[in-house]
Amino acid sequence: MDVIVKKNVDYIICSKCDLLMELSCSFVGEQASCPRCQSVLVSNWFEPHKRHNIYAATAMFLLVLSNLFPFINIKLAGISNQILLNQIPYIIMDDGFTILAAFFMLVIQFIPLYCIIIILLLVNPIKIPFQLKLLLARSLFHLRHWIMVEIFMISIFISLFKLTNYGDINLQPSFCPWCLFCILQLRLFQCVDRRWLWESIKPIPNLIQTPITGISGLIQGLRCCPCCTAIVSVYQDKCLRCGIISSARYEYSLQYTLALLMTSLIFYIPANFMPVMITEIFGLEYPANIIEGIILLWNESYYVIAILIFTFSIVIPILKFLSIGWLCWHASGYGNNKCKTMHLLYKVIKFIGRWSMIDVFVILILSSLLKIGKLMNIYPTSGLILFALVVIFTMMAEMNFDPRLIWDRNNIKSRN
Ligand SMILES: [Zn+2]
Ligand SMILES: [Zn+2]
Repeated sequence: MDVIVKKNVDYIICSKCDLLMELSCSFVGEQASCPRCQSVLVSNWFEPHKRHNIYAATAMFLLVLSNLFPFINIKLAGISNQILLNQIPYIIMDDGFTILAAFFMLVIQFIPLYCIIIILLLVNPIKIPFQLKLLLARSLFHLRHWIMVEIFMISIFISLFKLTNYGDINLQPSFCPWCLFCILQLRLFQCVDRRWLWESIKPIPNLIQTPITGISGLIQGLRCCPCCTAIVSVYQDKCLRCGIISSARYEYSLQYTLALLMTSLIFYIPANFMPVMITEIFGLEYPANIIEGIILLWNESYYVIAILIFTFSIVIPILKFLSIGWLCWHASGYGNNKCKTMHLLYKVIKFIGRWSMIDVFVILILSSLLKIGKLMNIYPTSGLILFALVVIFTMMAEMNFDPRLIWDRNNIKSRN
């Protein structure tokens, strides 16, 4: 029979580097970080229930407001065109790109709204069947990576700079609520502490052995549950708290990462040469790919926007391919780079990877607004779907990479 030694809640295993530590974050407003990889482990917020309720309810209200009123208006040669935020996916669908419209709706409206509702349901004493509660909490932490509201906000500002070249731009009543919604939802998700939320759903199970701090969990047969952060045995597939089935390391992590990276690379080559949008002026069509679009911006003296698009659409994807490949190489046991350096690289990729979606959103905004009869129209093309797929597949590659593999090399060295 197993002997219960110490409460699991006093200990934590870093989900990024596998270091086992005793938790010392007990004061309100304090944040505990991993001493080895500097990842944030827990945050003790002042009155978290109130904080979550205020942020979530206000963000939801602002999201509704931003959909009720006109968003942006453009006036070109006496003709005016005005759009609502929720009209953008319909316009994309009319152009024949239902997949792009669905993706847009998902990452800009549905997933953020779904996650906000889940937070409200979980932090308040609402009677929900326990199994459903577990399911909702699990989906929250999976889906929040796909929220791209802040990327869309920056895309709007870039589009506005470009649109001033075509006509007079007027920001409409729902623009301000939308910007406030972006800021609030960012703050809300920053305040949701995974460990605290799971603790409020179900208490953490007790440990079955005395953990040794300052060394890897794997060495002592323990692992961190990727969903609820509970410490479980490496021989136990199912977490006793959240019920998720996982293993000590993501299964076939390097194989999946490389396969997704290769798929992304296959899409990246045609995505750069195929047109991503067509500009129609007085019935004449001018297709442009990403590089041509950047050259056009540069020639029109939009140097900052040209540099931004070049960085996010060309430089970052290439750096991401090389960096993920390098991480896989290091994690396979090759190379002599320091684990800290490789972990920093992983963090940078994780942070900047999604931002390559800026160009996709800019084109979708331009094509939604610039529909001025026979005068001027902008349409997305299938090249844009390929480019969006490049970003999605590299994001999936990065998500499938297990950063603990970087640090596992230390365990092998210390054993030798
Ligand atoms: Zn760590
Ligand atoms: Zn769990």
